[in-house]
Amino acid sequence: MTTTDSDPLVRRMRPFGTTIFAEMSALAVRTGAVNLGQGFPDTDGPAEMLAAAVDALRGGQNQYPPGPGIPVLRTAIADHQRRFWGLDYDPDGEVLVTAGATEAVAAAILGLAEPGDEVVCFEPYYDSYAASIALAGAVRRPVTLRPGADGRYAFDPAELRAAFGPRTRLVLLNSPHNPTGKVFDADELALIAELCQEYDAYAVTDEVYEHLVFTDAGGPHLPLAGLPGMRARTLRISSAGKTFSCTGWKIGWASGPAALVAATLRVKQFLTFVNGAPLQPAVAVALALPDSYYDGFRADLQVRRDLLSAGLADAGFGVLTPQGTYFVTADISPLGGQDGVEFCRRLPERCGVVAVPTQVFYDRTEAGRRLVRFAFCKRPEVLTEAVSRLRGL
Ligand SMILES: *Cc1c(COP(=O)(O)O)cnc(C)c1O
Repeated sequence: MTTTDSDPLVRRMRPFGTTIFAEMSALAVRTGAVNLGQGFPDTDGPAEMLAAAVDALRGGQNQYPPGPGIPVLRTAIADHQRRFWGLDYDPDGEVLVTAGATEAVAAAILGLAEPGDEVVCFEPYYDSYAASIALAGAVRRPVTLRPGADGRYAFDPAELRAAFGPRTRLVLLNSPHNPTGKVFDADELALIAELCQEYDAYAVTDEVYEHLVFTDAGGPHLPLAGLPGMRARTLRISSAGKTFSCTGWKIGWASGPAALVAATLRVKQFLTFVNGAPLQPAVAVALALPDSYYDGFRADLQVRRDLLSAGLADAGFGVLTPQGTYFVTADISPLGGQDGVEFCRRLPERCGVVAVPTQVFYDRTEAGRRLVRFAFCKRPEVLTEAVSRLRGL
């Protein structure tokens, strides 16, 4: 290869174009549509957290923090996991602060998977997963989540079992799951845990929606690391962005046995080294907020889920009620839609709303062809406006 090749981009990144979020957000700006495409809140997080960030900025916490994160935040992360999930991690060595959950996932895969190793994941998947797996030269083995007769997404246990093999290095699990809103239940997690142990694989879990499991989900959030035998092989990832409505801060973390955290840190230190010095103490304050914050946050989002879901059903969509997260997916076929990409490209001009087609998050595109995703992490008046526009369909 020479530098005069028409595309300077490395081959392993060529399948990844501009993200669908960029395309749809640009469309929203151009058409003045209500943007329910990208999953970011349109209000600020807790005032105590914002005040702590201002204090830290003015108080001189503006230089490189320690590589693994400031001790106050690592301690707060450990305390939070003990408090909510009964999981014990040593803030010194078993907790790592990262540039969002995104960096934690990327650094974990780059640090754990050799070229040719296989990574089992569930599709539709969060868009950074496929790119991180490709950057590592690893191979993704997707297992498809499909809507069942009960309106919930599920996977075929035989398909999951078949996805594991001698080259399986790790399983990448996101629960509560974006974009489907699925919360993996105890039986599903038990099977994943059994297969990880049978094939001696690691688990990397993306739990950024750990506090957004709705009261009608049929059960609480269950971290995979809490299942028998799993703590020793699981790297648990979360982030402040979703829980504290500060997606632009990019403060995330990974927790797990020291060897897994060390492998992740080895890569992380050469990706970003450190990040967000004045934001780290503020996130520590947020993590220690009383239960009333977390309960109120979940209750708020559940009301918004219901508002948008009812509006989508009224407009004629086949709504798949989520058990968690910021998102609701809907089937466009009752409205005569055949293809989500085409449907979403036309939606702004048809009714002034932007959604995201989920087929772009599948390898088996066909499984998601008629599904689109709407975000409900928006102010109620924005959702009400979107619902009234959707009625025009
Ligand atoms: C938003 C999101 C992330 C990204 O988290 P950051 O902390 O902003 O990097 C990761 N995983 C899932 C499933 C998400 O929805």
